[in-house]
Amino acid sequence: MSKRSVGESLEPPEALRIEFVPAVHGFSLPAIGLAYTSTMQWMFRRYHVTTFGCQMNAHDSERIKGMLEELGLGEAASQAEADIVVFNTCTIREKPDTKFAAYMGEAAARKRERPEMIIAVGGCYAEAQRERLFSLYPDVDVAFGPGTIPHLGEWLGAGGFGVERGAWGTGVEREFAATLPMHRERRFQAWVQISMGCNSTCSYCIVPAVRGREVSRRPGDVLAEVTHLAQQGVRELTLLGQNVNSWGRDLLPEIHTEFGELLRACDAVEGIERIRFTSPHPKDFRRPVIEAMAECAAVCEHAHLPLQSGATRILKMMRRTYSRERYLKLVGELRAAIPDLALTTDIIVGFPGETEDDFRETLAVVEEVGFDGAFTFVYSPRAGTDAAAMADQIPDEIKRDRIERLVELVQRLAAERNQERIGRVEEVLVEGPSRTDPSVLRGRTRRNTTVNFTGAAAAGELVDVLIDRASSTTLGGVQQIAVAV
Ligand code: SAM
Ligand code: SF4
Repeated sequence: MSKRSVGESLEPPEALRIEFVPAVHGFSLPAIGLAYTSTMQWMFRRYHVTTFGCQMNAHDSERIKGMLEELGLGEAASQAEADIVVFNTCTIREKPDTKFAAYMGEAAARKRERPEMIIAVGGCYAEAQRERLFSLYPDVDVAFGPGTIPHLGEWLGAGGFGVERGAWGTGVEREFAATLPMHRERRFQAWVQISMGCNSTCSYCIVPAVRGREVSRRPGDVLAEVTHLAQQGVRELTLLGQNVNSWGRDLLPEIHTEFGELLRACDAVEGIERIRFTSPHPKDFRRPVIEAMAECAAVCEHAHLPLQSGATRILKMMRRTYSRERYLKLVGELRAAIPDLALTTDIIVGFPGETEDDFRETLAVVEEVGFDGAFTFVYSPRAGTDAAAMADQIPDEIKRDRIERLVELVQRLAAERNQERIGRVEEVLVEGPSRTDPSVLRGRTRRNTTVNFTGAAAAGELVDVLIDRASSTTLGGVQQIAVAV
């Protein structure tokens, strides 16, 4: 079916002459998604969601999209074609704030031409700017924080109509969005949120202030979702939490459980062939979790283990609650228990007070561990965090110099690690054609490396690929077809 552009008219088909439809999530919707205009033309309303930031936000956006679709809205290919524009924001660093400001400027200009357009702003930046958002951005109609997505429909009004302008939607308790409909990009992969919020107090981080205290989802609810996803054809799960491996601690008075047990329970669900999780905190990587990783066939041989700094002195100022030695010991334990484990990490350079010697300690740890990949960040002061008020903020040119040196090292080590894969056969979950060359297929190994390969397979299939080339970020190869003899 071809897509219609906004405003294109069509005859009102009989089947669409609905006055009311049943309640969706506790409220009834008049003629969802359709407006009967004064010119007696029917219009389909369409939404567009722009997502900034982490996987948790990407997952929240799947729920936002699913919910808007349940309200009867269709997805627009671009923001310019949408009647309801949603920004799911991030504020972990200054960069996403600036990026949002640029996007918002474009949306506001469009709204001046089409005042009926609705702009909704959700996520961490919205929450952080709760008091000032509407004065900073007067064109915003609705704002909401993370954890209150289930109420978005009420704030927007049925099908995007009757929206109360300038409304803040976070007056309600945080809730898991898990029971909402979901718009997944791929039918065979899914994120499953197992906790929200964070109880850590890392001195640089805004997350606890905007996402609140940690709340674990009950194991029965998680498993019901995982089982349902498996029945729908999902083969690969990624369990999500700001601090995913401290899951279960707050449930202790009622249910005695921990993250390792959850991994085992997910592993036992028929149809689930790959399990990933992000982000674990090194302080919570305890023996039962390592054992579950080693023993569960579906749990992938990959751990994303944020280091942040290689200098114990800086880790202390960051309030990470582990030392350089403890981190390295954990890496040793993980590698001893899980052969062929891939390790990736997050690193911040230019934290207040970081000296050249501290930074060299970070480089030394990176070299010693030999990470398969790393997200590298320049420290960005966040208003309200302790680190932002620390003396001895590092000048930008020093931060720039350090990030360049770190990125160079990370890329060299990742390229070396990937070179070691040449000649091996890797199991690849096919995701579809390559983004740059549609004649080639793309997928991921269990160790979470992207592979571009020649072969013939459908998205969602698990295939064997012989690796014959490598760069710092990807592998290349040829699909191995089993031949009966
Ligand atoms: N909860 C995860 C953890 O503790 O590892 C990470 C969550 S955070 C969304 C992702 C990464 O952003 C962090 O690991 C950290 O490296 C980086 N980050 C957080 N606050 C930052 C800041 N103020 N400046 C630069 N990077 C920051
Ligand atoms: Fe932020 Fe630290 Fe919590 Fe991660 S563990 S979300 S870095 S406070």
